[in-house]
Amino acid sequence: TNPSEVSIFTRRESDARSYCRGFDAVFTSAQGSEMTSSDGRRYIDFLAGCSSLNYGHNDPDLKDALIAHIQADGVAHGLDMHTDAKAEFITAFEEHILTPRGMSHKLMFTGPTGANAVEAAMKIARKATGRSNIVAFTNGFHGVTQGALAATGNSYHRGGAGTTLNGVTRMPYDGYFAGCGDTADFLEAMLNDRSSGLDAPAAIILETVQGEGGLNVASRPWLQRIAELAKKAGALLIIDDVQAGCGRTGTFFSFDDMGISPDIVTLAKSISGFGLPMGLVLVKPEYDVMGPAEHNGTFRGNNHAFVTARAALEKFWASDEFQLDISRRAQLVEDGLQTIADLVPCAQLKGRSMMRGVDVGSGALAGDICARAFQRGLIIETSGPEDEVIKILAPLTTPDETLKAGLDILIGAAQDVAN
Ligand code: PMP
Repeated sequence: TNPSEVSIFTRRESDARSYCRGFDAVFTSAQGSEMTSSDGRRYIDFLAGCSSLNYGHNDPDLKDALIAHIQADGVAHGLDMHTDAKAEFITAFEEHILTPRGMSHKLMFTGPTGANAVEAAMKIARKATGRSNIVAFTNGFHGVTQGALAATGNSYHRGGAGTTLNGVTRMPYDGYFAGCGDTADFLEAMLNDRSSGLDAPAAIILETVQGEGGLNVASRPWLQRIAELAKKAGALLIIDDVQAGCGRTGTFFSFDDMGISPDIVTLAKSISGFGLPMGLVLVKPEYDVMGPAEHNGTFRGNNHAFVTARAALEKFWASDEFQLDISRRAQLVEDGLQTIADLVPCAQLKGRSMMRGVDVGSGALAGDICARAFQRGLIIETSGPEDEVIKILAPLTTPDETLKAGLDILIGAAQDVAN
C-alpha cells in the first residue's frame, strides 16, 4: 500500500468518518497555520482541528518543551500519581488564568475529550443538587456520548441510535424566536409555571457561541439573565467552553467579558495547546462533590498534554499582547467574510472574534464554496443545522499575510459560485 493514496481510507475506514474524503489528499506534515500533503502541496488551515489548534501546528516552543520532557524520560502516563508535569500545569493555570480572574474553581481532569468533560459536568451538577433534569439549548453541541448527546440540540447527531433525551429539557437559545420575543423570558415562564412540566433543573448548560450549531452568539444581557435564572432556580450554570474557550473569542474564556460567574466550566480541544487529548472541568469548590472513582478514566491527565498545555499558557497568556493580536486578526476575518456576504444574496455574518463564519443560506452552496476553496489550497468546513455556515477557525497565531491569503482563496471560491 502506498501511504500517500487515499484508497485505503475509502476501502477500510468507516463511513462514519467520511468527512476527510472531501479533502482528497493525504497530509504528511504541518507547521503553524499550514499543512502539507504527500504531493508537496501546501494548504492553509482554517479548520485547525475544529479549534483544537488555536496556537497552530507544532508550535516550536511547545514542541521543544515536549521533546525535552520525552528526552528526559519524563512520565507519559501517570494514572493515579502526582507528577511534576501535572503540578506545573496546575500552577501555571492558577497563576495565569484563575488568580487574575479571582476564580476559586478546582480542576478536575476528565477523560481526554470534550464529551467526557461534559459528562463529568452534568454528573457533578446532578450529584450536587440531588436533581436530574438538565436544561440545554436548541442548536447546542456538547459531544456524542450518551449524556452529552442528550444535551446536544441537533437530533441528527443521535444517529438514529435510539439515544433518549435522558433527563435533558431543551429550551430556545438566544435569538431563536428571531425578533419575536426574548427566550430568557420564555425560560423564566417555564421555570415559574408548575404546569409547564419543567422539573427543577440541576444545571443549565450552554455555549456562549454555538460552534457546531452555526456560530449563534448569546448576548451579554441574555447570558446574565440565564445566570440569574439558574441561581434563582437553584441550578448550576455550566459553560461549555470546549470550542469557544482558550482564546477563540479573544479572551481566554468566552465568558470573560460577560459579567457571569459559571459554577462549572468545561475545557478540552485547545487546552493542551498542541492537539494532544485533554479534558478538564473547572468546578467551584462547594460543588466539588465527586468521590474517588465516581468519574474516573484511564487516560485522564496525560502528562505530555500537561507539558504542552503549561508551555502554551506561559507563552500566550502571560501578557496581554496575544489578545491584541487576536482582535486585529479577527478584524481581517470579518472584512473578508463581509466581502463574501456581499456576493451572496441574504448572506449573514455569524459568530464573534476568531470564531467567525458566514451563513450562505444552504448547505449545498456552503459545501460547494468550501470544496472549491480546498481545490485552491484552503482547508475549511461548514457548521449549522443544515451545514449552511462557512466557518473559519484559523489558528489564533496565523500571520496576517496567511490569513489574508486564505480569505482571498475563500472569496475567489465564492465569486466562482456567485458568477
Ligand atoms: N462541546 C463543544 C462545545 C464542542 O464543540 C465539542 C466538539 N465539537 C464537544 C463538546 C465535544 O468534544 P469532543 O469532540 O472532544 O468530545
